[in-house]
Amino acid sequence: MPSNVELIARLAHIDEKLDDMHAELGDLPKLVKKLEDKLRQHMRQVEETQKALEDIAHYRTTMRLRLQELADKEAKLQETQFSGQVRNNREFDAITHEIEFIRQERLRIEQELAQNQIKEENLHGLLQRQQADVEDVRKELQEREEELNALSTEQDNEFRTLQAERKAIIEQLAAEWYAEYERIRTYHSDAAVYVHKGSCSGCFSAIPPQMLVEMRNQPERMFVCEHCGRILYPEHYRIEEEEII
Ligand SMILES: [Zn+2]
Repeated sequence: MPSNVELIARLAHIDEKLDDMHAELGDLPKLVKKLEDKLRQHMRQVEETQKALEDIAHYRTTMRLRLQELADKEAKLQETQFSGQVRNNREFDAITHEIEFIRQERLRIEQELAQNQIKEENLHGLLQRQQADVEDVRKELQEREEELNALSTEQDNEFRTLQAERKAIIEQLAAEWYAEYERIRTYHSDAAVYVHKGSCSGCFSAIPPQMLVEMRNQPERMFVCEHCGRILYPEHYRIEEEEII
């Protein structure tokens, strides 16, 4: 049966891999969420622009009808004015005034329609840019989602294997060793580190020679770095990271 110190070295190795996996997935779920929000925001902008364009189209239809009405009215007034039915100058002048008023009104509406046309052209340009933005974000979101799904599936298998290995180690490891390891893990993710050339490989502090001797002579005792508090284990228990295939 492997010693506690050997088991702790294996546990540290597995936890390092699990932490790496977690880091690899890291920002991706957050990024996907952010892109989803961004997409919704861009889509809202498109809707707003489309609504503004609809309003302009509606206004144009209404105003064209109004122009037609005014033109008809003007024609009728002119007809009356020169029909010989006008009884006096005052009545003639009144009609002239009314025609003048209608013309002013028509001019005002025509100017407004011209301005609206410029606004409409600008809005069409804006809409095109906004729709392009939506497509860009949609594409990026899709890529990121695929990336996340692929990674999750790939990680899922590795994760299960590592978790099973971890469980097997913990079952063999002395309870007080595991408790101490987990306690240190709350502030050092690498709670157990190997001794390299007489130094702690976690904080690089030199380990007193006396402790190095004791580590050799008392393999079942737990030794911790006096500087950083990490559990120490001999370098020959170190598991080298295998090559990534
Ligand atoms: Zn240390």
